[in-house]
Amino acid sequence: MVSEPAAFGVSGDGVDQRPSLVSFVPGALPLSGYRRTQVAHWLYQTGVGSIERMTNLPGELRNELSAAYRLSEFRETHGFQSADGSVKYLFTLNDGQQTEAVYMPYEGRTTICISSMVGCPAGCSFCATGYMGFSRNLSAAEIVDQLLVAAREWGHSPREIRNVVLMGMGEPLLNLNNVLAAIRRLLDPSALDMSPRRITLSTVGIPPGIYRLAEEDLGVKLALSLHAPDEETRKKIIPTAHRYGLAEIMEAVRHYYARTRRRVTLEYTMLEGVNDHPWQARMLGGMVQGLTAHVNLIPFNAWPGAPVRGSGQEQIRAFAEVLKGTGIDVSVRWSRGRDVGAACGQLAAGRADR
Ligand code: SAH
Ligand code: SF4
Repeated sequence: MVSEPAAFGVSGDGVDQRPSLVSFVPGALPLSGYRRTQVAHWLYQTGVGSIERMTNLPGELRNELSAAYRLSEFRETHGFQSADGSVKYLFTLNDGQQTEAVYMPYEGRTTICISSMVGCPAGCSFCATGYMGFSRNLSAAEIVDQLLVAAREWGHSPREIRNVVLMGMGEPLLNLNNVLAAIRRLLDPSALDMSPRRITLSTVGIPPGIYRLAEEDLGVKLALSLHAPDEETRKKIIPTAHRYGLAEIMEAVRHYYARTRRRVTLEYTMLEGVNDHPWQARMLGGMVQGLTAHVNLIPFNAWPGAPVRGSGQEQIRAFAEVLKGTGIDVSVRWSRGRDVGAACGQLAAGRADR
């Protein structure tokens, strides 16, 4: 759909040597404050498709900027429309790698689910992204640009996207410096001016990253991918559970709440015969007591080759009932975009899902 022509500075291997404008704006562009504000306005408020269209800049400056910068981080973008209204965007990065975002333009609440990596090193058994392995971290600009390009494709201002979830490809707390820089850009009044309450970072549970995020005090919401209340089950499906135990993770989560006063979400993907037993629901209920948290049950989204199966609706309902009986707050999240491989855990850049 969008394909930025790489007219200048393209090396033999097709890599455009120019930095992207997104990686410089608003702060670091070598222009006067006034011009920088104009460019930032085009990028983050208007959502312009090319430097040439920044019509209040002098023609000569537009030419200079076009020679020195690409507009976007992405070489190409393809959108896959789901019957439920969500759109999966597949982005080809400047080095030819690919990553994805899911845009959910629903009335009154437009949300984008963005990626922090190409692939993921965590290797969770139920996740298509984990199955494809890890290629590389995304830069802060590559993280932010997913939102800018998705809005542009949709014909909206980037500022109309008011909710961001870092739940796409990758483990954000294992790419923390870039993720923090991207979040700052989302919050920056001269960039996207978002509210931190509308940004959710989802993690598989990396305690040092959770502490660091708490110290940064950005006010974003935290979601923990728990998926099992007992160590043994968790280790079976989440390799990083061998490194970080539940006690240590939950301590970090409690610290996050104490520091930020943001209610934490515990995500729990329902896997048949693995983590959907009533005793696990009771154990989970016990774990959550005294924690200001909310449990989100996620029906498993299937992908070809997955070594696990999802729990049936009846099982999910029964599990939720037991949990509710323990007095905790629980909801079931039916994912969007399953038909185009855009649902949670189906993101694998065209490898496992199409
Ligand atoms: N790496 C982070 C964020 C990306 S995964 C994390 O693990 O939290 C986003 C959410 O989708 C996580 O809760 C993850 O466990 C869940 N998920 C992964 N694969 C899934 C699948 N096939 N079906 C349903 N949910 C899945
Ligand atoms: Fe990585 Fe999250 Fe998938 Fe696990 S669930 S492999 S941490 S993206």
